Amino acid sequence: MITAPAAPAAPASGHDVPHWIGGARRASGGRSQAVWNPATGRVARQVRLGGADEVAAAVAAARAAQPAWAGTPPLQRARVLGAFLALLHEHRDVLAAMLTAEHGKVLADAQGEVMRGIEIVEFACGAPQLLKGDHTDQVSAGIDNWTLRQPLGVVAGITPFNFPCMVPLWMFPLALACGNAFVLKPSERDPSPSILMAELLQRAGLPDGVFNVVQGDREAVDALLAHPDVKAVSFVGSTAVAQAIYETAARHGKRVQALGGAKNHLVVMPDADLDQAVDALIGSAYGSAGERCMAVSVAVLVGDVADRIVPRLAERARAVRVADGTTPGAEMGPIVTREARDRIERLIGLGAEEGATLVVDGRGLVVPGREGGFFTGATLFDHVTPAMRIYREEIFGPVLACVRVKDMAEALALVDAHEYGNGVACFTADGRTAREFARRVQAGMVGINVPIPVPMAWHGFGGWKRSLFGDMHVYGEEGVRFYTRQKSVMQRWPEGRARGAEFAFPATK
Ligand code: NAD
Repeated sequence: MITAPAAPAAPASGHDVPHWIGGARRASGGRSQAVWNPATGRVARQVRLGGADEVAAAVAAARAAQPAWAGTPPLQRARVLGAFLALLHEHRDVLAAMLTAEHGKVLADAQGEVMRGIEIVEFACGAPQLLKGDHTDQVSAGIDNWTLRQPLGVVAGITPFNFPCMVPLWMFPLALACGNAFVLKPSERDPSPSILMAELLQRAGLPDGVFNVVQGDREAVDALLAHPDVKAVSFVGSTAVAQAIYETAARHGKRVQALGGAKNHLVVMPDADLDQAVDALIGSAYGSAGERCMAVSVAVLVGDVADRIVPRLAERARAVRVADGTTPGAEMGPIVTREARDRIERLIGLGAEEGATLVVDGRGLVVPGREGGFFTGATLFDHVTPAMRIYREEIFGPVLACVRVKDMAEALALVDAHEYGNGVACFTADGRTAREFARRVQAGMVGINVPIPVPMAWHGFGGWKRSLFGDMHVYGEEGVRFYTRQKSVMQRWPEGRARGAEFAFPATK
């Protein structure tokens, strides 16, 4: 149910959204850029765009604060996160309203985003258990060997516009729980939640300097990637940038996880419950106006499914309620920027030119009272083929492409041949089909009769192929591994006299 926001979306400070460095707002320095309200099409505020100076200041603050934070017992660090968790709950609706105001997603969806982020904080509160090392008594006579997991130092997160609260929460709670200091570079399109989260961390008792925010664009990112004191980078965004970040950060000797774009397929088998499949496709293709990395953008219709399901999808797509995200009952809000909306509409035109059947055309939608907003309606294509650009490219808008295939083998081959491998789903009533699909499909996250299989906090999130560069997923136990490094300690307390030097490599007998 959509509820009214508890408080108006508070811009971070006066007119400008500042940086957060060393426990204080910093509103000076650097360029600035407009932050839009996409539902009205008006500039809501400005955001500072930091450069090398702001990055240097944030990293210096983080570096100064990190050793004491790393020396704080893990349970005390977890208690700070516990206090942060309580404050997040208290400010859930304020955060959600901020998301709607700057991103455009409908309020109920924004509330869902905040809750999914909160789940990671809940998980991070239990991190001391995952930081436990292991110990072997007596690996050799009088010698013990154990492993520790120690923090990396200063780590950075670079996040996309589409989840301005949840994606940063995928990263920093675990990084902090592991004893690192963090520098966040949020998306410049919806920067306000980052500052509220920084303030809540401070109120929760996090020492100043342990968490910092540098607002900005590529300039700030480049400075972070080149900074010698940044030991690891977590990135989430589009594939071209993810690959560049992966390569550049690695060249600078940093640990990197870089999550990229997606083209998620949902396969509907002839035995599937079509009511459920229709609900799943409509919700996952058009929810958040398709601006989710786990949005379903391709429906793979097996056998005779297409003729049965496309008319029903068309009817439902036409009925999607598009409005300002604050409107009670709205199902889809605006697109984040005018440029993004225009790009989506250009791709729709291209799809029609390429020969796909444009069943529902969402272009040119005007929302009464919000004529300046960046809206586009739900769009449905049928008879899409793998050669078309609307099939190959991530559109990142409310566009669902139906591809017809004859059987499961063809459906799997289609998914496997796509350059992306983030999420995938199969709707079927047959357990053996489901099992084979889950085992064989080439994607990182699989849903069986679940359209958007975003893993729970302790399972970790990540795609395959060009949807993730690096080898560790975000959050979950992989997150703990990413933000720590292993140290092995071997110890002996010899008795009696020294026995002389050993020249042969020591081995157990
Ligand atoms: P984006 O790649 O444009 O921007 C992401 C971040 O990188 C932002 O902070 C931005 O300021 C910065 N950036 C942009 N261009 C840069 C450049 N040339 N050099 C250095 N930094 C740069 O992505 P976006 O438009 O904000 O987000 C949408 C994209 O993110 C989609 O492709 C979506 O699939 C992807 N995404 C992926 C996941 C995932 O888990 N795989 C999750 C959310 C979003």
